[in-house]
Amino acid sequence: MTIGSMFGDVFRSLFKRPFTERYPYQRPQVPERLRAKVVWNPENCSGCQLCVKDCPANALELIVVDKASKRFVMRYHADRCIYCAQCVESCRFKCLGFSTEEWELASASKVPFEVLYGRDEDIQFLLERAAQGCAGEAAPCSESAG
Ligand code: SF4
Ligand code: SF4
Repeated sequence: MTIGSMFGDVFRSLFKRPFTERYPYQRPQVPERLRAKVVWNPENCSGCQLCVKDCPANALELIVVDKASKRFVMRYHADRCIYCAQCVESCRFKCLGFSTEEWELASASKVPFEVLYGRDEDIQFLLERAAQGCAGEAAPCSESAG
């Protein structure tokens, strides 16, 4: 490369837009199949626990609120998740998937890494039971809604 051609490249680059992403000022369009935060929809959940059993990282807990009426809450430990997609594959009812919105998961606090998914009333029920001293014993404490 001659000095002349190098100056040509330098001069042309002054008028080109940079190739680098402007993140975090502009959020990039993420791929549709990005493996980010796991999300859970309770609507079709049968309570089979297959996702929980198949998760190699022990990142999912299905808490039974009322088995007869199929009321469950899913506790997701994002800090344990290895984003392998096994739970998504295992669920026959397509309750699990990956968020394409929530993928900036870094945090200095542990709080956002424990997520409760479910219907508002079921989560509320669970939190009330926990406040009564059943924290950490969510499954046995929440076997029934009564
Ligand atoms: S993506 Fe993998 S590690 Fe994460 S919750 Fe699902 S099965 Fe577990
Ligand atoms: S595999 Fe699907 S249906 Fe079974 S407990 Fe998990 S989310 Fe519910």
